[in-house]
Amino acid sequence: MILTVTLNPAVDISYPLQTLVIDDVNRVSDVSKTAGGKGLNVSRVLHLMQQTLLATGIVGGHIGNFIKQKLDDDQIQHEFFEIQQESRNAIAILHDDGCQTEILEAGPTISADDAQAFMQFYGQLLTKVSTVTLSGSLPKGLGADYYAKMVEMAGNAGVKAILDTSGASLLASLKATVKPTLIKPNETEIAQLLDQPIDVTDIDGLKTALQAPIFAGVEWIVVSMGAAGAFAKHNDHFYRVSIPKIHVENPVGSGDSTLAGLAMAIDTNESDEVILKTGMTTGMLNTMEKQTGFVNPELFKPYFAKVTFKEV
Ligand code: ADP
Repeated sequence: MILTVTLNPAVDISYPLQTLVIDDVNRVSDVSKTAGGKGLNVSRVLHLMQQTLLATGIVGGHIGNFIKQKLDDDQIQHEFFEIQQESRNAIAILHDDGCQTEILEAGPTISADDAQAFMQFYGQLLTKVSTVTLSGSLPKGLGADYYAKMVEMAGNAGVKAILDTSGASLLASLKATVKPTLIKPNETEIAQLLDQPIDVTDIDGLKTALQAPIFAGVEWIVVSMGAAGAFAKHNDHFYRVSIPKIHVENPVGSGDSTLAGLAMAIDTNESDEVILKTGMTTGMLNTMEKQTGFVNPELFKPYFAKVTFKEV
């Protein structure tokens, strides 16, 4: 079973508005409210792909209850840690020309006691699962090494840890003794970590970059590249995965959907080829849907067959 962690989930509210008029009243009728946050996108995709999963994280207040209710509606199994403060809303104003204005609440500040209590709660959940996904930025109050500690607990419990984060918390996890099983940095993140520019179209340059000491001990590094597919390193092997040209409806959440695909195939010990092709397919299927973090499982087989994989 896969445990998905969302430490700062949100209610994603979308307001379609032809024009946003500043300093006046804007009325919206077609409002959508969904349970959001990167880890919940991963959860939805895993569920749509018929995987058994448990969603966890930190929630509070009425908004926290709304998030849990939405997961119940989708029949996604969850066990969240409750805090006294309110979880957050994330508002996207969708303009007619395809542009979007976002208003994102920071969310609660986690107290030191809650931070410690969640860690214990998480430790209990680890006994029920074989893989854990950790996605997104940390809420205020948690130290940059919080994910590193969660990865260490997973490693000590024999659970594979799949980490999708950036900045200081990614760096802290790479510097820790127990490394994540998989990381999914993008071009900017690799450049930041190595403190040098990086060109993802240069395979030899990428190979050298991913062999830098900072990445030592991380089993899988998957660099997803949008329409160009992905480049990956598994121990001493390097792979280039290419995807067919598809009609893109909404690419938001593709990285999370890719992570879900990678997690489900890693959890069942598939071959390197199947792991990468699964991740690419769930990523592609998400771009073909309007809804973020959503895939049509019936399209999985035909699109999986169109992904090409080669060792480089
Ligand atoms: P992130 O959201 O983390 O930046 P990407 O944009 O690299 O992730 O997308 C993840 C995966 O989703 C890609 O590797 C690919 O499989 C699929 N994908 C994303 N954008 C496109 C696109 N424009 N066309 C086809 N597939 C896409």
